[in-house]
Amino acid sequence: MDNCGPITAFIETTDSASVPISTQPSTSKQTSANSHVTLNGATNMNTDLIESDYSDAEEDLDIGSPKKMHVGVRRSEVGHLLRSEQGRPHDSDTEEEFHDPSMEILSLPSKCAEQAEEFVRKVWEAGWRVVHHHSLPSWLKDNDFLLRGHRPPTYSFVACFKSIFSIHTETGNIWTHLLGMIAFIGVATYFLTRPSLEIQWQEKAVFSAFFAGAILCMTFSWIFHTVFCHSEKVGKLFNKLDYCGIALLTMGSFVPWLYYSFYCRLGPKVVYLVLIFVLGTACIIVSMWDKFSEPEFRAVRAGVFIALGLSGVIPAMHYVITDGFFHAIDDAALGWLVLMAVLYITGALIYAFRIPERLFPGKFDIWFQSHTIFHIFVIAAAFVHYHGISEIANYRLTLGDCLESEIE
Ligand SMILES: [Zn+2]
Repeated sequence: MDNCGPITAFIETTDSASVPISTQPSTSKQTSANSHVTLNGATNMNTDLIESDYSDAEEDLDIGSPKKMHVGVRRSEVGHLLRSEQGRPHDSDTEEEFHDPSMEILSLPSKCAEQAEEFVRKVWEAGWRVVHHHSLPSWLKDNDFLLRGHRPPTYSFVACFKSIFSIHTETGNIWTHLLGMIAFIGVATYFLTRPSLEIQWQEKAVFSAFFAGAILCMTFSWIFHTVFCHSEKVGKLFNKLDYCGIALLTMGSFVPWLYYSFYCRLGPKVVYLVLIFVLGTACIIVSMWDKFSEPEFRAVRAGVFIALGLSGVIPAMHYVITDGFFHAIDDAALGWLVLMAVLYITGALIYAFRIPERLFPGKFDIWFQSHTIFHIFVIAAAFVHYHGISEIANYRLTLGDCLESEIE
C-alpha cells in the first residue's frame, strides 16, 4: 500500500524505527516538522502525541527509571495496521487469477481511507494517556507544581472537546466553569422570563449586563481550559478571551450596582459607569499583549484584575460619605458587596500564589489545585453579587420614583 501517501509513509517510518526516544519536550518547530495525518481535514495527529504519551506511561509506572524509552508497543500496534493491510489474505485463488490492475486503482482511495481511519482510531484510543509536566512543550507549561496528568498537544478540536470527559489537570477547571455557566444561564432565564408585573423591563435590562458578564466569563473560561492543549496559537487566542471574560464579568457586575446605588443621581452614575467601562477596556487591551499570559506574569494578572474590581471602592466610598455607613450597609447591600470582594480577592490570591500545590507539589495535580479553587471562588462571588444587587434593587424599587429633591 505504498500509494497511500503520508499515512503509509508515517506508519512505515514509525514501524521501522526502533531507536530510543528521549522524553524531553519537543519544540514547536520539531512539531511542525513531523508528519501529520489528515483525515478529511478533521483530525490532525502527529508523532509528538505518541512520544509524549509513552514517555509518561513509563514515568507514571516507574518514576525512577532513566528518561529514555522505546515506543515498541505503539510501533507494534501501528505495524499491525500495516501488516493487516499488506498481508491481508485474498478471499480466493479465483480473485488472483482474474487480477485486474484497474480494479486495484479504483479501490485504492477507499483502502487508503480505511487505513487512515484505523490508524487515527488507534492513535486516539491510546491518545488519552496524560503526560508529565516536563514532557510538555514550553507553551503548555503553565504551572510546574502540577507534575502529572497533563494533556499533550492534540492539534484537534474534537480531541480537546472529548477530553472534557476524561481525567487530567484541566478536568476540574473545565467543569467548574461549565457548570457555573449552566447555573447562570438558568438564573438569567428565570429572571428574564418573569412577568413584567413582577420584574419590569428596565430591571431586566440592567440585570442583563451582569448576567451577560457572568455567562461570557464562565463560557470563555471553560472553552479556554478545554482547547488550551490544541496548539500554541489556539491556546494563546483562547487565553486572551478568558482574560476578557474576567474584565466583562467585572464591568457587568458594576452596572446594576451603580444603577441602583445612584438611582436618582445621574451625574455620579454616568461618571462611574464610564470609569468602569474605560478601566475594563484598558484591562482587555492589556490582556491582548502576548506576554501577559506567560507564567511569570501570574502575579501581574492577579494584580490587574484585583485593581479593576477594587476600583469599586471609589463609588462605594462616595455612597458611604453621602448616605452614611449604616445606610450603605442596610440599603446598598454593602456587606454583600464586601463579601463578594473578599471572595474575588481570596480567589485571585490563591491563583497567584498557587496554593495548595506550591506546598505539596504533585499532590493536587488533578483535583483541588489552586486554579480550580479560584474558579469556585469566582462562582461564589458572582452569586453573592447577584444576591447583593437583588437586595439593592428591591430596596430602591420599594421607594418608588425619584423625588425632585433627590435628583442630581
Ligand atoms: Zn480559569
